[in-house]
Amino acid sequence: MATDEVVGEAVVTCEDLVKVFRSATGETHALRGIGLEVLPGVLTVVAGPSGSGKSSLLTLLGARDRPSAGQLTVLGSDVAAASTRQLRTLRRRRIGFVPQRSSEAVFPHVRAIDQLRQVGSWRGDGGDPAGALEAVGLGDRAGHLPSALSGGEQQRLAVALALVGSPQLVVADEPTAELDHANADKVMDALLATAAAGCAVVISSHDDRITHRADRLLRLRHGVVSSETSGQQATAAVIDSTGRLQLPPAVLDLFPSRRVVVETVGDEVRLRRPEETP
Ligand code: ADP
Ligand code: MG
Repeated sequence: MATDEVVGEAVVTCEDLVKVFRSATGETHALRGIGLEVLPGVLTVVAGPSGSGKSSLLTLLGARDRPSAGQLTVLGSDVAAASTRQLRTLRRRRIGFVPQRSSEAVFPHVRAIDQLRQVGSWRGDGGDPAGALEAVGLGDRAGHLPSALSGGEQQRLAVALALVGSPQLVVADEPTAELDHANADKVMDALLATAAAGCAVVISSHDDRITHRADRLLRLRHGVVSSETSGQQATAAVIDSTGRLQLPPAVLDLFPSRRVVVETVGDEVRLRRPEETP
């Protein structure tokens, strides 16, 4: 994305987004107050270690789950308030989604090209099913059933299904996890081209080869956004709505006592270690 490019209105906005999973053994606070905007024409990568909340966040951004608390607006719909039927229509017509288990997005008994035609028709103009297969390197698999495809090929078919028919939002959870470098690059090319055409694209990954190609990189840690980088800008740490600041791990290591003196000098805020008390 060129830095001087005009970016349109946010496709997704969330504020203080919270997701709590409850089970017999207790509660898991998967997301603990996320605020962000997803913009058209931008490929956003959500990175973070396993368990940091990537899948929980992407599932919400794709309007496939409802928040436990906080505000989530996807393509103009308030996800907490919308009916199940409204959300289903929104997902079918306007959102391409690749779940972490990408084979779940594939219709098992339908030839590749036919499922692309079906999904394309739900999105309106039908799109370009053959072109979508080509874009992920599956041009020669059009007549195959998913059972005749490898795990990686099924993952690429799931990406093609997410991209066909010009959705306004594409959300893909670790869409290159099962791919070798060449195919991962091809899928990234297709996702970046989709973003360049004006779609809002959000993917998760913990692969540096992928995160390096992001227009915008959000890092999650324990269910909150710990840092945000856009294009060539310096990485920005995020201050949450109650004023808490997450320091990058390397900076955190400088403060073993977990105490900091905050000084304002001109337009800079400096953090320094408190004087040692004997
Ligand atoms: P990531 O995708 O970064 O690995 P997840 O969003 O899958 O992270 O998980 C975040 C936390 O929420 C983890 O502790 C995970 O065990 C928990 N979690 C995710 N989904 C569920 C669920 N359906 N039920 C209970 N706990 C869940
Ligand atoms: Mg995950």
